[in-house]
Amino acid sequence: MKKVNTRMLSEKEWQELLKNQFKGSLECNVPMKNHTRLAIGGPADALAVPDDPLSLKNLIVTLKEQGIPFMTLGSGTNMLVRDGGIEGMVIMLQAFNRIEMIKEYEDSVEIFVEAGLLWQKLVNYCKGKGYAGVEGLTGIPGTVGGAIYGNAGSYGYETKDVIDTVAIMDQHGMLERFKVEGLRFDYRTSSISGGNIILSANMRMKKDASESVSMRTEDFFRDRREKQPLAEKSAGCVFKNPKGSSAGKLIDETGCKGMSIGEIQVSPVHANFFVNRGNGTAVDYLNLMEHVSVNIQKRCGITLEPEIKIVGRN
Ligand SMILES: Cc1cc2nc3c(=O)[nH]c(=O)nc-3n(C[C@H](O)[C@H](O)[C@H](O)COP(=O)(O)OP(=O)(O)OC[C@H]3O[C@@H](n4cnc5c(N)ncnc54)[C@H](O)[C@@H]3O)c2cc1C
Repeated sequence: MKKVNTRMLSEKEWQELLKNQFKGSLECNVPMKNHTRLAIGGPADALAVPDDPLSLKNLIVTLKEQGIPFMTLGSGTNMLVRDGGIEGMVIMLQAFNRIEMIKEYEDSVEIFVEAGLLWQKLVNYCKGKGYAGVEGLTGIPGTVGGAIYGNAGSYGYETKDVIDTVAIMDQHGMLERFKVEGLRFDYRTSSISGGNIILSANMRMKKDASESVSMRTEDFFRDRREKQPLAEKSAGCVFKNPKGSSAGKLIDETGCKGMSIGEIQVSPVHANFFVNRGNGTAVDYLNLMEHVSVNIQKRCGITLEPEIKIVGRN
C-alpha cells in the first residue's frame, strides 16, 4: 500500500478518504498550541472531533487501513507537542461528555461518565451530590479520559481508586469493557496504550454528607491554589517524583527555581512546573528539562523521569 502523505491532504481529500462515514468536525493543519495548556506545538496534519461512537469507529478503521497514525488528545494539559507538529490525525472526544448516576446502593453510587467530560465537572458533580472519592483530585485540569489514561492523582487520591470499569475502543474499532482489575494502574501511568481510546468509565463513589464532601474538596483546592501556578501556561508537573523524594524539592535545592531558557521558566511558585511566559517553544522547554535533569543527576545521582507526555515531529 502506498503511504499517504497526510501533510499534503486537503480537507476535501480527508473527507473523500472517510467516504462520508464520519459525522463530526474535521480540520487540516491545526496549530497544536491552540489545543495545549502550555500553548506550544506545531500543526497536526488533521484534527477530528467525532460526533458519535460509530463515526469514531469508522474513522479509526479507515486510518488503520491507510496506515495513517493517530493519537487521542484530551485537553492537552499534560502534553508537550514538539514544534514540528503531529503527523497524521489528532482525535478529540469533546462530544463524549455525558455524566449520569446509574445505580444507587446503600452506601455508594455508580456513575457513568464519558471520556471527553472535563474532570472538574465530575468533581463538581460529586461535590454537589455528596459523593466521596475524588475530593483530592479537585483542580486537576483536563478530561476524564486523560485522568484515566495517566491515573491522575494528588493528595493521596488516585483516579484508579474510583474506577469500576473502563470502555475502550481498540485500534481496530472494537469496543471492550474492562474491569479495573483487568487493567494495570501505577503512579501516573496505566496499561492503556496509545492506540487504544478510552470512551467512558463506570465509577463507584461513597455516599457522604454533601457539606463534608464540599468542605474537603474546597480545602484541597485552596491548598493547590497556594502551591501551584494554576493561572499560568503549564503542563503540570514536568517530572515524576523519584521514590521517597520530591522532584520539585530537588529542583529547588539544586538552584534551578526561576531559571529560564527562552520564554520557558522553572516556575518560581513550584519548581516542578515549567511555565510558558509568552511564545516559548518546545525546543526551549526540552532544553530546560535537559538542563535541570543533568544538574540533578550530577548533584544527587538521581535520574528524573518525565511525567508530561512528549509527542510530535522535531
Ligand atoms: C495546573 C496543572 C495542575 C496539574 N495537576 C495535576 C495533579 O495534581 N495530578 C496529576 O496527575 N496531573 C496533574 N496535571 C496534569 C494533567 O492535568 C493531568 O494529567 C490530566 O489528567 C490530563 O488530562 P488531559 O485530558 O488534558 O490529557 P492530555 O494532556 O490531552 O493527554 C494526556 C495523555 O492522555 C492520553 N489520552 C487523553 N484522553 C484519552 C482518551 N480518551 N483515550 C486514550 N488516551 C487518552 C493522551 O493521548 C496523552 O497521552 C496538572 C496539569 C496542570 C496544567
